[in-house]
Amino acid sequence: MHGPPESFQAGSVLAGAARPMRVDAQILARERECRDCGLFQILPVLAPGEAACCGRCNATLRHGRRDSLNRTLACAVGALLLFIVALQLPFLNVQAVGRSYQATLFTGPTMLDERGMWEISVVVVMTLIIMPAVQFVLLLSVLLGLRLRRPPRFLPRLFGYLERIRPWSMIEVFLLGVFVAYTRLRAIATVDVGPGLFALAGVMLCLIAADAELDDEQVWDQLESHGLLHFREPPPTDRRIGCDCCRLVLYAPSGWPCPRCGRRLRHRKRQSILRAWSLLFAATVLYLPANLFPIITVIRFGQGEPSTIMQGVIELIQAQMWPLAALVFLASITVPMLKLVSLTAMLLTTHDGSFYRLRDRTRLYRLIESVGRWSMIDVFMLTVLVALVHMGFIATVLPGPGAICFASVVVLTMFATASFDPRLMWDAAAAHGHDVESGHKPDTASEQRA
Ligand SMILES: [Zn+2]
Ligand SMILES: [Zn+2]
Repeated sequence: MHGPPESFQAGSVLAGAARPMRVDAQILARERECRDCGLFQILPVLAPGEAACCGRCNATLRHGRRDSLNRTLACAVGALLLFIVALQLPFLNVQAVGRSYQATLFTGPTMLDERGMWEISVVVVMTLIIMPAVQFVLLLSVLLGLRLRRPPRFLPRLFGYLERIRPWSMIEVFLLGVFVAYTRLRAIATVDVGPGLFALAGVMLCLIAADAELDDEQVWDQLESHGLLHFREPPPTDRRIGCDCCRLVLYAPSGWPCPRCGRRLRHRKRQSILRAWSLLFAATVLYLPANLFPIITVIRFGQGEPSTIMQGVIELIQAQMWPLAALVFLASITVPMLKLVSLTAMLLTTHDGSFYRLRDRTRLYRLIESVGRWSMIDVFMLTVLVALVHMGFIATVLPGPGAICFASVVVLTMFATASFDPRLMWDAAAAHGHDVESGHKPDTASEQRA
């Protein structure tokens, strides 16, 4: 089905070696712009298991994958089937005083809505049900569409949306939230794991495998080879521009539609600094009430104190659950704080055009971009507890006002991180006369593959 593996010759100029030469002179077929530092560089031909990294900031530009499309398709089909099963079956059963309570994925959002917390209900439904469902449908549409003799012309657009949706699909975070809720529930009642949880764990594994197997460049190449490129001759310009969505590099002005994915091309994210500052400000304002107001009240036998996030951690410590306490502390207190402080520092150093630890700041950006979503653990834990604990006098769990503030902080900081363009740090340093241009050649590093 596929040809012999391509080998990488270090240091040689590989432009045009793997793809057919383009007729459109404006498109630089093998060039890619690093999304973290803005360096344009030529992608080497990669063997499966190899990765191309940015020569300046070490961001991964591309992984070499074998048979990426078929393997990803298998994972996506598995994920969708298991997800349909997970939607139907209860994931936790609780038994107390002769009664049994079950929770499906819909129970928590429904109960939150009934208790006047529709805002959190919306966030949970979006991140746990809608976004994952959209993610599976888009991925399957693109991969199956490519197998048709005449793939529909909207496929590139669908594939473009996929990348924007990925961070908001939070099944693995939910599973960790269920685990935290499970340990807290055991103190109140008998808890059994339902079949829905196993299905959900299967979805998570399929998704991790799909992410590991998916090579975006191969999908774009396939879409192109089916003639789904919408090339319009751009006005002449001598400045290269990289597409933020599909990574294509071409000579075109800002605002021109990308010939591959259709998104408007921009040299940098639009109004990045202003949007990042505004979202960061809103998140910082909400950070205090998120930590000061109670997020949850557990009432047992008519008694119970509302507890804040920190008190929740202390309760876990008192129950001798050290690893879990550390996990919740890290996800709910450290990560939001890290995001607020790092983004503020990045914005300030961008204003100053600082050269100080530019590479480390870029790495820090990648870190907060990837760990930000894990702060949702506490929101999901709350959802599960509210879903299952409504046993009248025996025990009841009520959401507190801090929960809305906390969920807002998580969502706002995620938007703030996505709005900030780390390339601006490099631009600013260069504009202040610092020599940021070092190493144009991308490194090739072998990575261990499971
Ligand atoms: Zn870079
Ligand atoms: Zn594009």
